[in-house]
Amino acid sequence: MPALPTRKTSNSKKKKRNSHSKIVFKNIIACPSCGAPKLSHHLCDSCGLYGGWDVLRKGDESEQNDDNPSS
Ligand SMILES: [Zn+2]
Repeated sequence: MPALPTRKTSNSKKKKRNSHSKIVFKNIIACPSCGAPKLSHHLCDSCGLYGGWDVLRKGDESEQNDDNPSS
């Protein structure tokens, strides 16, 4: 017979324990180009722009180095 808990976990104890598990989306902003909600520092899903750059456009020979934004 395995070890059992001494007492039943009360509803208050259970709710206090789970009070930290709420999912909060803090970094949703409006896209400056199209106004759609998007994650901050992420590519916009609706217009494909990031910081004024059309990242999703194919055939454009511009470099897309995210590591060197100083250009
Ligand atoms: Zn957008």
